[in-house]
Amino acid sequence: MDTPVITTIDIDSPGRHFGLLRVPRSTNEGGWSSLDVPVASFINGTGPTALVMGGNHGDEPEGMIACYDLIHRIHLGDVRGRLIVIPCLSPDAARGNSRLWPSGANFNRSFPGSATGDTNEQLADYLSRYLIPIADTVVDMHAGGRSGVCLPWSEMHPVDDPDQRKRMVEAMLAWNSDWHFIYIDIAGSGLLAGEAERQGKTHVSTELRGGGTILRDSLDIARDGLMNVLRQQGVLRGEVATRASLGKPPPTILRAIDRADYLQAPESGYFEPLVALGERVNEGQRVGLIHFLERPDRTPEPIIAQTSGLACSHRAIFRTEQGDCVVVVGQPVTLEEALS
Ligand SMILES: [Zn+2]
Repeated sequence: MDTPVITTIDIDSPGRHFGLLRVPRSTNEGGWSSLDVPVASFINGTGPTALVMGGNHGDEPEGMIACYDLIHRIHLGDVRGRLIVIPCLSPDAARGNSRLWPSGANFNRSFPGSATGDTNEQLADYLSRYLIPIADTVVDMHAGGRSGVCLPWSEMHPVDDPDQRKRMVEAMLAWNSDWHFIYIDIAGSGLLAGEAERQGKTHVSTELRGGGTILRDSLDIARDGLMNVLRQQGVLRGEVATRASLGKPPPTILRAIDRADYLQAPESGYFEPLVALGERVNEGQRVGLIHFLERPDRTPEPIIAQTSGLACSHRAIFRTEQGDCVVVVGQPVTLEEALS
């Protein structure tokens, strides 16, 4: 194989297996070492392949917990085909409760990666060339992390291909969350989602609240949504639940595909949200303030909504730098609009 990454399990071998993706590295305290990323595989008969991942960012525990829960909740007989679970893509970052790797690398800006690049790029390259290609469904769970707090939602990019978009909308809806979100990247490229989409996969992602929390209701949404999506994708046996079958009202699909939906701090200071998550926002409305601790005489700088919709995410750290995204406004759209 033309990759330095070693897999300690055969991901084609039937049964239930636990192992490691070993990415070689050499550090001050481990001259001959490897970054070990845990992986589990469940292969039972023929069927589709799902690749499920958490901990892409180390300070987003919701998806990691959902992965570990999934591994111990299901039996091999529940699987139809192949399920590969990588519960924590960024172990060192998770140990440090940090979004980024200790090297400063953002794993979710590392794709498609490089077999000869840094450790993060080597792992990304392995996913891009060996695991994503064999998957029909790719699930990469995120949350707001320490820096942001979101309504709990499943999400997708507005991909161009109508068939892929339809598959992704259906998978996004199968999360059965109250909220769904269609978004664009405003902070760089190289996302895992983009690589999976480029390969034509049915990609499902989430933002399951965040703000440095591990709230029970967010974890329930993560666990139940993941299980249902895997049933809907045909990888887990069992009846697919819908919001109607669960006695829930239709969800709200929010779309933020204009850069103006993503409001950034005009200068550094201390952020105060003026809107609650889910609250209606009108263009021109003050949705936040930047305070100046050393200047009580200074009027706080307002954050003004540039579009109308619902407040769907805001910054969760008081101290704010110029350019930080402080509030995101999403426009409610119909299912037909989401598909178009
Ligand atoms: Zn993330």
